[in-house]
Amino acid sequence: MSKKNFNKKNLYIKIVIIVGVVFLVLFILFVLLSPKLTINGDRELKLEYGNKYKEPGYEATFFGKDISNKVHVNGKVNNKKLGSYEIKYKVRKNMIVITKKRIVDVIDSKKPDIKLKGGENVDVCPDKEYSELGYDAIDNYDGNITKKVKIEKEENKVIYKVSDSSGNSCKVVRNYIKQDKTKPKITLKGSNKMTIIVNNSYKEPGYSAIDNCDKDITKNVKVYGKVNNNSVGTYKVTYEVSDKAGNKESVTREVKVEKSYPRVSGNMSCGSPGVIYLTFDDGPNPTTTPTILDTLKRHGVKATFFVVGRVASGNKNLLRREVNEGHAIGIHTWSHDYSIVYRSSDNFWNEINKTAKLIKDETGKDTKLIRFPGGASNTVSRHYNIGIMSRLSNEVISKGYNYYDWNISSGDASSNSLAVKTEINNVTKNLSKNRGNVVLMHDIKKSTMNAIDGIIQYGKDNGYSFDVLNHGISCKQGVAN
Ligand code: ZN
Repeated sequence: MSKKNFNKKNLYIKIVIIVGVVFLVLFILFVLLSPKLTINGDRELKLEYGNKYKEPGYEATFFGKDISNKVHVNGKVNNKKLGSYEIKYKVRKNMIVITKKRIVDVIDSKKPDIKLKGGENVDVCPDKEYSELGYDAIDNYDGNITKKVKIEKEENKVIYKVSDSSGNSCKVVRNYIKQDKTKPKITLKGSNKMTIIVNNSYKEPGYSAIDNCDKDITKNVKVYGKVNNNSVGTYKVTYEVSDKAGNKESVTREVKVEKSYPRVSGNMSCGSPGVIYLTFDDGPNPTTTPTILDTLKRHGVKATFFVVGRVASGNKNLLRREVNEGHAIGIHTWSHDYSIVYRSSDNFWNEINKTAKLIKDETGKDTKLIRFPGGASNTVSRHYNIGIMSRLSNEVISKGYNYYDWNISSGDASSNSLAVKTEINNVTKNLSKNRGNVVLMHDIKKSTMNAIDGIIQYGKDNGYSFDVLNHGISCKQGVAN
């Protein structure tokens, strides 16, 4: 090799070294002058679908000085959409830019959920095959995936499987046993607590029995217990049935046989003790009512007239006189014809309303007093409509009216020629100081026209007072004669 060549090669080496040193210096300067950027947490994060993305943070320094606030962050994570999202972090210092990135994968790792209708352990009727009770499959991402459920059947079990679009799967098992442990159900027609009035007939209102496996087994129901409708008391009627599997059910109906109430006489009390409430039904009558009004006036006694609307409409002057002289007016229906009045609740109320309107038009009075033709316990009405008296009694109260029977009967309805002495005695012998005395009379009867003077005189002589019925007076049982 010549000396010239040697020198030339030396020159190349020198240049390479110089260039290398320059680059090294530049690199060191670059490293020294670069800002430092660190991102916290993993560079690749997994975020469950729906969960909120929380930035794990980052730090930037330059020569030990915190310049984190100079960092620019770019990129967004949509937590409602599966996918990969890139977040870029960038910081710039002295013309030098440093960038880092983080990948956030929004994933669905939650299993779908299968809900079994009827539960995971069910009974199947012994003589039946299992029939599917239904199910729902819900996934947090896919929503309702019931249609994707696959069913496998094994002995005494059903297996339900489903996978969501992300491959998460769920499996539930329903076990069933062929057995019947459910009692049949007995349903009573009518109330399980009934009341009938003594001597009225008791008729079984009926029942039905349904079993979960055997269906209608009404014909297997056995009925125990007897109601003695002729004797006051509380009776139990028991209904019993068993299904094929031997599950037994029984229910009881309580039937109360009660005294008739209110009654013609006896231990019922109305109003104040020692008071006589004279009541006159079926009028007003042009022959007898004026004399009765005269007698009451002479004694200064007020009474209660339960007028029949049809009759009063022909004797309006007497209706007005009764009110003008301070007596109370009550409603005794329009026709007093049992076959009409007690045919239906509508009939009854039509008659009450029509009579109430007549009284209001003629006298200006609104009356809330009612007396049922035959009394509230009459047994005639049931020829027209069984049970109507108890329905009407309730309706009267619920519509704001009140009805009154009596605890003393003058007996004037029994005959057209009752002896006056007998009628006076019928009333006076039953008067009591321990209760209010509601006296039933009819102002259409001549015997009554002639008897009331004696009745009033007896009452006055024996320390009784007289008053009219009003809506506030109540009657109750259980007060001694
Ligand atoms: Zn009557």
